[in-house]
Amino acid sequence: MTARTPAPTTRTALVIGGGVAGLVAAMALHKAGIEARVYEAYDAHSGARGGGDGGGRGGGRGGAMTIAPNGQQALEAIDAAETVRTIGTPVTALALRSWTGRHLAQLAPPADLPATRFVWRTELHEAIEAEASSRGIPVHKGKRLLDATDTGTGVTARFSDGSQARADVLIGADGLRSTVRALIDPSFPKPHYAGTLTFTARVPKTELPSTEGVLYMCYGKKAYFAYQIFDDASAAWSVNLPHREPLTQAEAQAVGAGEWLKRLREAFTDDRTPAPDLLADTSPEDVLITGPTETMPPVQTWSRGRMIVIGDAAHAMSPTSGQGASLASEGAVQLARCLRDLPVGKAFKAYESLRHPRVDRILKHTTATATATSAAARTATPKPAGPLSRALRDALLPVATKVGGAGGAVWGAWQFDHRINWDEQVG
Ligand SMILES: Cc1cc2nc3c(=O)[nH]c(=O)nc-3n(C[C@H](O)[C@H](O)[C@H](O)COP(=O)(O)OP(=O)(O)OC[C@H]3O[C@@H](n4cnc5c(N)ncnc54)[C@H](O)[C@@H]3O)c2cc1C
Repeated sequence: MTARTPAPTTRTALVIGGGVAGLVAAMALHKAGIEARVYEAYDAHSGARGGGDGGGRGGGRGGAMTIAPNGQQALEAIDAAETVRTIGTPVTALALRSWTGRHLAQLAPPADLPATRFVWRTELHEAIEAEASSRGIPVHKGKRLLDATDTGTGVTARFSDGSQARADVLIGADGLRSTVRALIDPSFPKPHYAGTLTFTARVPKTELPSTEGVLYMCYGKKAYFAYQIFDDASAAWSVNLPHREPLTQAEAQAVGAGEWLKRLREAFTDDRTPAPDLLADTSPEDVLITGPTETMPPVQTWSRGRMIVIGDAAHAMSPTSGQGASLASEGAVQLARCLRDLPVGKAFKAYESLRHPRVDRILKHTTATATATSAAARTATPKPAGPLSRALRDALLPVATKVGGAGGAVWGAWQFDHRINWDEQVG
């Protein structure tokens, strides 16, 4: 560790987007001694709205997600890990099943790392936002960024309500359909439709037994089904349903939860997993229509001048990777370290060198796993798996997961084992 520069040359930052990436970035900048203000397009936090323009992904009441150990360790670096620990339920193992109910693999979490936490998205956002507010970070709601000008000495942002704000740097944490990304580079690739629509549900009561912390992933005959049943008899499930035509979230919502529930029950009717029973226990009002699964192709440049993108705005992953929010948190903390120790241009360059290898590796791994386990590949495309490929997939999957995960049947392994040394000087 070398002696750190006494005060950051960057004094102020505008953070666009009040999702995980934006709020964690603002807290990390605050810890680094940089004044950060968050500007969020929606009046309510993103986790609580029903969605619509796709500014955030997987938002909405009842949406479920997991926060991986590496995400928790990023929060630990800025003394915020408690926010997830207090609301999350530990996931004790990951179990893979075929549509026949056959056991394919059970992956244990690495023993020396904090357990992955299952969280409800709304609660996660509320907890992180409350933590940011308790640290004195202003979160301005109803401020949709329209445009920004980099004057060379700072950035002026303009919002849809006619107001403006100025700071030394502008950080785009504005999700998959990032406005900041388009300002940095209009030719930045667009998100790519991955061939499935995603649904999730919070089921208040089921007669099925608790999974005792195990998260089940079932490669269904026609679609992918993940579920967990809690000790209080409530349950969570999520489905990736192959759908040839891309639908926006609004278009999918217009179909109606009742109709989708009917279609999901049909899709899982042959499966000999708890999917049919859990879907029978689900009411339309429990269902959240998350919309299309979209990913970002890898891009080499995330910044220009005094503007940079982080989180999904820069590198959205498939939801099944379980890494989106954790990588967003890691990136937010690393960016704050870079801006703490280096002037803007060098800081952004250092950030990209630090983050690219890891983000690209996880993106590659996620894709490779999907291909190796043809199960995931088949359920992630509009074409459902045929009988032969299903049989092959089920035969190969136990092998693929063992070979694919360094260290045998351990879940996550190198992806999870990532710590950020906050005190170490960058550069
Ligand atoms: C169905 C589904 C399941 C998922 N499950 C998991 C999981 O289990 N684990 C995991 O780690 N990840 C998961 N992910 C991915 C994860 O949700 C994202 O990676 C993560 O939320 C990214 O956070 P973010 O802050 O970068 O973006 P977002 O959460 O999208 O936040 C962006 C924010 O910016 C705001 N905004 C947008 N445009 C503007 C503008 N012009 N001006 C101002 N504000 C703006 C939006 O309203 C939003 O609040 C899942 C995603 C989906 C879709």
